[in-house]
Amino acid sequence: MIELSGVFYSYDDEEVLRDINLTIREGERLVLLGINGSGKTTLLKILNALLFPQKGIYTYFGVRVEKGKLKDREFTKKFRKEVVLLFQNPDVMLFNPTVYDEMAFSLRQLGFGEREIRERVLYWADRFGLLPYLDRTPFRLSGGQKQKLCLACLLVLEPKVLLLDEPTANLDPKTTGWLVDFLYDLKVTTLVSTHNLSLAPELGDRLIVLGEDHTLIYDGRVEEFLKDEDKMLKAGLLHRHRHKHGDKEHSHYHLHDHL
Ligand code: ADP
Repeated sequence: MIELSGVFYSYDDEEVLRDINLTIREGERLVLLGINGSGKTTLLKILNALLFPQKGIYTYFGVRVEKGKLKDREFTKKFRKEVVLLFQNPDVMLFNPTVYDEMAFSLRQLGFGEREIRERVLYWADRFGLLPYLDRTPFRLSGGQKQKLCLACLLVLEPKVLLLDEPTANLDPKTTGWLVDFLYDLKVTTLVSTHNLSLAPELGDRLIVLGEDHTLIYDGRVEEFLKDEDKMLKAGLLHRHRHKHGDKEHSHYHLHDHL
């Protein structure tokens, strides 16, 4: 459904994505792993057509996604409904006076009728435990509730592809567990970014890794990657430490795992 071929992206002189080739099939659950600054957010923004490859090609179901294509209103409407991105910081996504309006916003934009909007909003509010808050302002919700609301705002669209940018970064362990379980049960193509190696196996079955050199250095099963010291070093996820004990020096690898 999604294909990136030879994609490059730079901000000014800083190259942040280099020759990215990636095919995603419907129903896959991918984890995008990379240290901070490796280019994960940029890649997700390209997949969400907020940024466009400066070199290379992005196709969605065979249609080339480029700036000019977004002038095609039919395509844009379909694309914005089907491919959605959960930003890292929920606050940038919330701006409506009530939780209900927040959840209804995109559906209204896309021309859905009020009856269908109400049905979808109530369904997802119920699933996410947000029913008691529908008339309240989103800004007073807790961090975890805001994250749930942002996710609900995307799921009301019944998307085909759900992109999530470090969704667990600001969540407590309980809400993180809830999200992991929720994503596991969700029958939608997902791509979740994280810099947390220990969470990677929980967030998907197929792992892709952005290296410090901004190329895709791995595409495969999570378990295989965890056995590959060279690749982990290249990703900046493993570090060689040297210690002195008395007059003896020894060195060992140290896993960088940021919780
Ligand atoms: P990640 O999500 O893996 O942390 P990003 O895609 O956010 O990586 O960023 C990759 C690099 O690009 C970082 O060095 C970051 O500072 C830089 N960068 C990101 N966004 C911008 C921007 N809008 N302008 C200039 N540089 C940016």
